Amino acid sequence: MTKTHYHILVNRVQKLRKMAQSAKKQGMSRRAFLQMVGIGGMALTMSQLASKTVAQSPQNIIIIGAGASGITCARQLHDAGHSVIVIEARDRIGGRVWTDTRLDNTPLDLGASWIHGIEDNPVWALVREYGIQTVPTDYDDTILYTADGDNVSDAEIANFEALLDMVLEKIDELREEAEEDLSLRDLIGQALANVRITGEASNALEVALMVGVENEYANSLENLSGYYWDEADGFDGEDVVFPNGYGELFTKMAQGLDIRLNQVVTEIQYSADGATITTQTDTFTADKVVVTVPLGVLKQNKIAFSPTLPTDKQTAINRLGMGALNKVYLLFSDVFWDEETPFFTVNDASVRFLDWLNFYPITGKPILMAFYSGRNQADIEAMDETAIIDEALAVLDNLFDGVEEAYVDGIVTRWGKDPFAYGSYSSYAVGSVPDDREALARPLDGVLYFAGEATRTDHPSTVHGAVMSGYAVADMILDE
Ligand SMILES: Cc1cc2nc3c(=O)[nH]c(=O)nc-3n(C[C@H](O)[C@H](O)[C@H](O)COP(=O)(O)OP(=O)(O)OC[C@H]3O[C@@H](n4cnc5c(N)ncnc54)[C@H](O)[C@@H]3O)c2cc1C
Repeated sequence: MTKTHYHILVNRVQKLRKMAQSAKKQGMSRRAFLQMVGIGGMALTMSQLASKTVAQSPQNIIIIGAGASGITCARQLHDAGHSVIVIEARDRIGGRVWTDTRLDNTPLDLGASWIHGIEDNPVWALVREYGIQTVPTDYDDTILYTADGDNVSDAEIANFEALLDMVLEKIDELREEAEEDLSLRDLIGQALANVRITGEASNALEVALMVGVENEYANSLENLSGYYWDEADGFDGEDVVFPNGYGELFTKMAQGLDIRLNQVVTEIQYSADGATITTQTDTFTADKVVVTVPLGVLKQNKIAFSPTLPTDKQTAINRLGMGALNKVYLLFSDVFWDEETPFFTVNDASVRFLDWLNFYPITGKPILMAFYSGRNQADIEAMDETAIIDEALAVLDNLFDGVEEAYVDGIVTRWGKDPFAYGSYSSYAVGSVPDDREALARPLDGVLYFAGEATRTDHPSTVHGAVMSGYAVADMILDE
């Protein structure tokens, strides 16, 4: 059986390119660059240890948002002796980590699923500390189907991979030469300007870009910055998921914290003397406030800041991208697909649900999950749930027998419309730059702090980035 996956190729190419670029930018050898990365990992460990220090003068601190960054920050500050209240808009904690049990009482993650790379990953350290169960998944272990359910041959896959490799290398050259930022779609257009490829190859390239880029960065090629779309570091090691759900980690971390649910913050007044936070029902005062709401919420101006945020921060909020990656979970009465292979992809760019994950090895239940994102996200989110599920089932129906008879129930996410996220995670939209993330992270008046995945230049768009931002703000406050 043919097994391959575009994720792994895209990731590999990105990693190699990133190492070379960073080393070049800093005028250092690849060896020196690797050493630098090693030292960076150590710095995080030191920073976590520093956070265990006891506060000299306990302060009243309010943290807005009970997601990965907010809970991490609250845990550190609470354990150091500060008086901490976490204010959360939803009726649950976890934010974009959300384990749901509606389908046959099975824990399924509607937000984040993976720890991407466990080596030196701070989330992996927490998983071990709290004794949480995980299982590895292998992106390499994939079946590539035609839209009719035939296996794509190894020879064809090798050709497609060579084409993708060529395009990615060409994009790198072009962006070095580009005088202004272009969309990734425009750069790809330029990369292919003098290349003649068959319709089949062009389709396979588009599939690879949908799965490996649009689903990965939760945005379309048209919106992503040609300069910075892949600007992020990664961790080595296995990718793992949580058979009991990712939520378990943050539920355990949050134990003993004062978390107020159903409190939607509408206004924050701040000065060097402290802050007043207004929610739809209450008013809170604090010596310091940590804002961890998603970039999407800031973009929608759902919280009024008084005084208004400085220009560099507001520009960063406007420029950075916030797209949505979504999931469709389908429960069946029995397994009619290859029960062992974790991933399968449909090699047809006109299919809107082409990237699938098999949950049978993870949950022991006949469950499949399809992603949708990028170019198709807004149109699909606008459909009703039954129509979305029917379209996903129709894709499966072309691949396998017995789909309709076996279908039991489904769940669809719509992160783009979620009023407390307005998207799945941040990305570099055309015109945005890494400094925007630094501007977003910068504290104001020694009172107003910002955390969350979008504030990280090194690990944005991830749970570990969110957790690292929580540690970083806690350290800042403890060091003052
Ligand atoms: C579908 C999907 C798949 C993903 N897959 C992965 C993955 O596999 N691996 C990975 O590492 N990352 C993944 N991510 C990204 C990851 O989930 C996020 O980067 C991370 O959880 C963000 O944490 P955070 O603390 O920055 O924000 P959040 O978790 O969003 O926390 C912010 C909190 O603020 C609250 N809030 C919002 N507005 C208000 C308000 N007005 N008043 C009070 N509270 C408010 C929110 O309800 C939320 O609880 C995925 C995300 C999604 C949506």
